[in-house]
Amino acid sequence: MQYQSTRGQTDSMTFTDAGLTGLAPDGGLLIPAAIPDVSDRLADWADLSYAELAFEVFKRFTDISEAALLELVDRAYATFLHSEIAPCVKVGDRYVLELFHGPTLAFKDMAMQFLAQFFEYTLEKRDQHLNILGSTSGDTGSAAIHGVRGKSRINIFMMHPDGRTSPIQALQMTSVLDDNVYNLAVKGTFDDCQHIMKSLFADRDFKAKYRLGAVNSVNWVRVMAQIVYYLHAGMRVMRETGADSVQFSVPTGNFGNILAGYYASRMGLPVKKLILATNENDILTRFFQSGIYESGKVSHTISPSMDIQVASNFERYLHVLLDGDCAAVVAAMEAFRATGKVDLSGQRSHPAFQLFASERVDTARTVSTIQAVHRDHGYILDPHTAVGVAAGDTLRAPEVPLICLATAHPAKFTDAIREAIGIVPTHPILDALADAPTRCDKLPADEASIRRYLAEKLQPEHSPC
Ligand SMILES: *Cc1c(COP(=O)(O)O)cnc(C)c1O
Repeated sequence: MQYQSTRGQTDSMTFTDAGLTGLAPDGGLLIPAAIPDVSDRLADWADLSYAELAFEVFKRFTDISEAALLELVDRAYATFLHSEIAPCVKVGDRYVLELFHGPTLAFKDMAMQFLAQFFEYTLEKRDQHLNILGSTSGDTGSAAIHGVRGKSRINIFMMHPDGRTSPIQALQMTSVLDDNVYNLAVKGTFDDCQHIMKSLFADRDFKAKYRLGAVNSVNWVRVMAQIVYYLHAGMRVMRETGADSVQFSVPTGNFGNILAGYYASRMGLPVKKLILATNENDILTRFFQSGIYESGKVSHTISPSMDIQVASNFERYLHVLLDGDCAAVVAAMEAFRATGKVDLSGQRSHPAFQLFASERVDTARTVSTIQAVHRDHGYILDPHTAVGVAAGDTLRAPEVPLICLATAHPAKFTDAIREAIGIVPTHPILDALADAPTRCDKLPADEASIRRYLAEKLQPEHSPC
């Protein structure tokens, strides 16, 4: 399978190159040249374990040998704390797909654990090293750190805004003491961290000299890895209920998770509806209601991983809506960059648009959903998952099983849960963090300091390539 850019100005490349590159050189996102149709295999796959299914899906997208891929998949999912990896539990008249049994208790592990295995394998094969530079407001950073910790060809430098992530999220990063992990607490905001990261990546010489790479949510390997749980849960629920289709509700920020659901449907999973749930940061809800994509101001909510106003994976979906017309994608992205707005209302009759429904769920409704589900079923939803459940309950198509994606364990967001139901959820992994030793360097929020820090910690590579 070859990969091409949504902007059409990059030569096509292999899966391995697409995974190492992240963003395409022309600024677009990398997409597979074709989506494999597996509809005639799905019934057989309903009995596969999670890792077996991941192997079947990935082998259709990658250039990695099957023997190697089998090992990578086994290792990636061996770190999960639940034998089913992503169990689907019945809560009232809906299913909750628990994506939080990885090492950091949030759904980013589902993809990051495999991405780290892919990096290690590829770097070994090419005899290269990689220094990951990232910035995080919480979940992505810890998932990346837990993915690559201890890997010999990778260092990770993760910036977070000092004192502005939740204490648990900070501890999940700073308690990782492996030699290849560098936590940088930057004295500024998340935007400062993002800004520093972008400007270091824009310095091509610096990026090449220090072999900098990224693990952000536009990396194709992450999207691909997320397709698996849609197929896994979808097939099992269809078999259990005898239904001939399913629908999903997905709490959304950067559009990465739900985009994987779209690809699952394109591969042949009968998906009746994809319900896209947002909090007050509702750029995507407004888009699916009006066809106009227009950024707004970020507001801070109790579901912070969705406090996003520009969805970085949206461009892949735009490419679909514009029927693969790369010039139209470039024009739309350029209009959005220049004016903060792009009008796509002419595409509203597109089947890919029709598949989606969207709802904005504010904080009060998020809290009342946590309360109602706990009262009626004794099940505790984290605030992100609650946004998805509320939207799913409202927008679901009748007679079709609803699967709500649970993106974090409630114990990661104790303040919101305590306020809603007076209970403090716990998890042994998080309890153990309280007395764990930590390591972290505090740095000022200026590019020169971060640049100096990296140069000091890294010997430039001189391998011939
Ligand atoms: C990242 C994240 C989301 C949003 O996922 P996207 O792929 O950005 O749409 C939702 N919930 C939690 C807990 C997350 O960490």
